[in-house]
Amino acid sequence: MVAADKTLHRSKKDMALPRFSSTLIGAPTSTSFFRSVHPIAHPSLPHLSNRVLVAPLVVHNPSLPITTEAPKTTRWKPLCLYHTHGKCTQVNDPLHLEKFNHNYQIDLQVNATELDNLRPQNFDYFLVLDLEGKVEILEFPVVMINAKNMEFIDLFHRFVRPVGMSEKRISEYIEGKYGKMGLERVWHDTATPFKDVLQEFQIWMEKHSILEKESGGPLHRAAFITCGNWDLKTKIPEQLKVSKIKPPAYFMEWINLKDIYLNFYNRRATGMMTMMRELNIPLLGSHHLGIDDTKNIVRVLQHMLADGAVLQITAKRSSSVTGDVKFLFKNRIR
Ligand SMILES: [Zn+2]
Repeated sequence: MVAADKTLHRSKKDMALPRFSSTLIGAPTSTSFFRSVHPIAHPSLPHLSNRVLVAPLVVHNPSLPITTEAPKTTRWKPLCLYHTHGKCTQVNDPLHLEKFNHNYQIDLQVNATELDNLRPQNFDYFLVLDLEGKVEILEFPVVMINAKNMEFIDLFHRFVRPVGMSEKRISEYIEGKYGKMGLERVWHDTATPFKDVLQEFQIWMEKHSILEKESGGPLHRAAFITCGNWDLKTKIPEQLKVSKIKPPAYFMEWINLKDIYLNFYNRRATGMMTMMRELNIPLLGSHHLGIDDTKNIVRVLQHMLADGAVLQITAKRSSSVTGDVKFLFKNRIR
């Protein structure tokens, strides 16, 4: 249900366009040097990779300095999901580093010019969260962003092992969900029960000083951001019940980015993909891999902040985590 009108408020910049357009999804590794040489040197062999073609043909001109600068544009690489779990044992293997990204902020960098229209926020930090798993939670990814300069601070990522399902059912469930992404193995190697994940998450939040003093206390100067209400309204309470965990106070309120989007741009976006399409932000990674979706939502958030959006809590539980949810925006996505 996306309005046909495409004249979105994009006045302050087509900043969306230059910001991410240099990143080519799945494009071959190249440097500007190779790129400029290749078509001239071998116009008849476009199907061969630049690297293979050009490297042996380079003749160094002694009058020119040899540049050892790292290439500015590199091929997009998937995140090393062992590394996000603190379990990568191959950080010294060049082949592994060539294949997998270990730099979490690489897709989330901010240019100074994008801060021109940034407005003061009610929070110091945003915690973007995008859960995966319908029956039980299978993945719990959070990316922490500085609200003052939009910069990436840290990420917390865990695959979550269901507790109320047989091993056989879990295997089928994971094959259906992550098999097509080739992530079954890493899921089975790293997934831990929600109870343990939440404990680790709490330690992570304490390390970043974003919890009020009492353990499990509400967030301090920070807010969760989700794409929709499902994550914190429905799924977290369901999982807390299954895992027999007392609802922590930090899950009491959140910001639904779709409601902010609706009230700021005056356009309805029913999901992350719609927001990305309308803001001209290319999708990176695998859609429905939680950590990739979370990073894509962060990029939507950064774009909205750069456009001047001010983020406010959109939903609150009235009493306990299982109580009624109060929606604070009159104009909202239902
Ligand atoms: Zn790794």
